[in-house]
Amino acid sequence: MNMPVLNVPAAPPATDPLDSLFDTLFRPMNAQGVYARTGAYESVVEALAALISSRREEATEVFRFPPVMSRAHLERHGYLKSFPNLLGCVSCLEGSEAEIRAAADRHLAGGDWTTGLETADLVLTPAACYPVYPIAAARGAVPRSGYRFDVACDCFRREPSPHLDRLQSFRMREYVRVGTPEQVAAFRESWIARATALADDLGLPYTVEQASDPFFGRLGQIMAFSQLEQSLKFELLIPLRGAAAGTACMSFNYHREHFGTTWDLRLEDGEPAHTGCVAFGMDRLAVALFATHGAHIADWPAPVRAALKL
Ligand code: ATP
Ligand code: ZN
Ligand code: MG
Repeated sequence: MNMPVLNVPAAPPATDPLDSLFDTLFRPMNAQGVYARTGAYESVVEALAALISSRREEATEVFRFPPVMSRAHLERHGYLKSFPNLLGCVSCLEGSEAEIRAAADRHLAGGDWTTGLETADLVLTPAACYPVYPIAAARGAVPRSGYRFDVACDCFRREPSPHLDRLQSFRMREYVRVGTPEQVAAFRESWIARATALADDLGLPYTVEQASDPFFGRLGQIMAFSQLEQSLKFELLIPLRGAAAGTACMSFNYHREHFGTTWDLRLEDGEPAHTGCVAFGMDRLAVALFATHGAHIADWPAPVRAALKL
């Protein structure tokens, strides 16, 4: 079957106009998409986080997750079906002192110490909302008003790239809704409006478009078509390279009953809960601000600096 490839983001140009910002934002750390962040860059990420917090809805519970999560939980999420290519798994030297010493000594002798590694029960968290569903499910039936969560995590995805809007290690912030289909639909609709207002306050140009996830492989193409057909994902795209295709800096996702079924997260009537989330790519939003307003924060438009309190 010759399906058009529609779930792969447009490739940026070979000579990337964003490169001129690199020294302002980052320092290399000997790996593509893994960078030390400058003070100026980090001040923008912190200001963005505070701005997003200021828009938090009432009765929202806050969780901050570590950059690793249970491998068993990620397996149960179905991640290996959807994105096995992006997953990073923790592995460690386990065993007796002699076994660990032997592996380490192989390195000192110029050999390969990594052959002694064993897969641990942890993976690198690939999305900020994953750990929240088992926490919610452990409480029993979802109350009538549903749940609202505010979550954040340092996320890892194995997609090395020379482009500074595609990192392997990046910060994701999310608002998550758990409840009836109507509650989740209302949440997503209101957040598309709130998020575009936020982009307006930041002086960022954008479009909001229907999107699909970059599901892995041939089967992934079919999953992506089904996701598009059901309008499950929208993205806020910001043009970071002039007229070229925009970069997804926020996403608005409706998972239907997928996580409800996976985690036995049920409403009072026994039906699986529906879930949805709005994700803010904190690093992409910070890059977008510098790409749009320039390398010097002091020269950014006054209303933008006022919104960020910078
Ligand atoms: P893309 O299509 O660009 O790969 P995505 O569909 O994989 O994005 P989501 O899974 O919706 O992105 O993740 C939520 C948000 O996290 C994205 O809107 C984006 O802002 C951010 N994000 C995702 N992948 C990366 C990455 N590799 N580097 C930096 N930010 C990212
Ligand atoms: Zn999410
Ligand atoms: Mg992606």
